[in-house]
Amino acid sequence: MTEKIQQKLDADVAVIGLGSMGSFAFWQLARMEESVIGFEQYRPGHEHGAGHGETRIFRTAYGEGVDYVPLLQEARGLWRELEAETNVEIYTENGGTMFGPEGDLFIETVEESVHTYKLPHKAWKGEEARKHFPTINFQDHHKVIHEQLAGFIRPELAIETAVKRGEELGGTVYSDSRVTAIKPDPDGVSIWCGDTHFRVKKVVVAAGGWTTDLLPDVHLPVELERQVLVWYDAKNPELFKAENFPIFSRVKDGLGFYGFPSLDGKTVKVAIHHGGESVDHPENVDREIHDTDLEPVNRLVKKYLPNLKEEPIKAKTCFYTNTPDENFVVGPAPNYDNVTLLGPMAGHGFKFAPVMGKIAAQLATGQQPVLPIDIFDPGRFNKK
Ligand SMILES: Cc1cc2nc3c(=O)[nH]c(=O)nc-3n(C[C@H](O)[C@H](O)[C@H](O)COP(=O)(O)OP(=O)(O)OC[C@H]3O[C@@H](n4cnc5c(N)ncnc54)[C@H](O)[C@@H]3O)c2cc1C
Repeated sequence: MTEKIQQKLDADVAVIGLGSMGSFAFWQLARMEESVIGFEQYRPGHEHGAGHGETRIFRTAYGEGVDYVPLLQEARGLWRELEAETNVEIYTENGGTMFGPEGDLFIETVEESVHTYKLPHKAWKGEEARKHFPTINFQDHHKVIHEQLAGFIRPELAIETAVKRGEELGGTVYSDSRVTAIKPDPDGVSIWCGDTHFRVKKVVVAAGGWTTDLLPDVHLPVELERQVLVWYDAKNPELFKAENFPIFSRVKDGLGFYGFPSLDGKTVKVAIHHGGESVDHPENVDREIHDTDLEPVNRLVKKYLPNLKEEPIKAKTCFYTNTPDENFVVGPAPNYDNVTLLGPMAGHGFKFAPVMGKIAAQLATGQQPVLPIDIFDPGRFNKK
């Protein structure tokens, strides 16, 4: 293969995977007036990866770590910039309520985040919180933090909009184009989609759960985890409109139960965070819905959301690509020249898509990232 490699450049930068993260790196690179091409094995906005299912939570008071807050503040501004550039509503800021038992690490970190960064919020005990949001059956012993700078993103629309905007700004998209191999060398990177060859200076790999297929030598200890999203009919849909119902997340011992306002004026989506079965490859995720998927969600709905009908009407599967420390993987790819890793995103990355896309674009073009990313170092797992 190497003897036939063309040296003429197809672009300066290629983004591989135009899913949740890659679509935003593509937009940011085009915005920076870089010549960029993007490859997606399906079509942007598809349902085979991690970026589908109608809604994703955005929140700033971050229970996963105080260090993430500046990134979220930057991301929030960038969501609004994409909306302003395209006149498309992607992010609705209707507030977010996090609750759980006193002493839960997640809730404590949410509190630390609001205090460290002086984020607008209210702190209530369960009984008081029920007066503000009677649709959620907070328990008396719950600690409740309601923050204003939270809401939900429309993921498929966000991905499609970022890709379309990147194209308008001069980027080129290859959809239904699976990259079958990439071969970096000190001068650039060769990319193959089957027999078709492309040559670029730099590559951003944003392949989510497929990352190690493309880059086996990065040795990432990631684990795929199947997740299930479930929709219920509302008994009184008015109660679940975005102006009346926040995004919420109940946490207990590392497991979450979260949900969204109704988008269609009829149904409400909820899900359990983590606790799913481990899978060896995205293409082996069991897409069937089983009673055992629904029973634990039904129980939580009955307990916390009595204004939903008890029988689910629809469910979909998705998967997380987890890391051992639950932090993202973003930075220069170990053992590969000229390759920036943008993900995997450890099951909580969507809300960061524009800022992580910007950081990957900066790394790929030799600029200083807008914010520190040391905790995402892809080489951290192999350090003794
Ligand atoms: C059920 C569920 C709920 C979630 N809820 C939230 C939430 O509320 N808030 C939040 O912030 N995060 C949430 N997340 C996490 C978030 O959605 C993920 O972190 C994020 O989608 C990961 O993005 P990604 O770009 O790494 O992966 P993906 O979006 O899967 O993108 C990877 C892309 O690469 C493409 N690709 C792979 N290999 C190739 C190849 N060889 N050639 C061409 N293309 C290729 C794939 O087709 C895909 O489009 C949730 C995730 C799930 C599954």
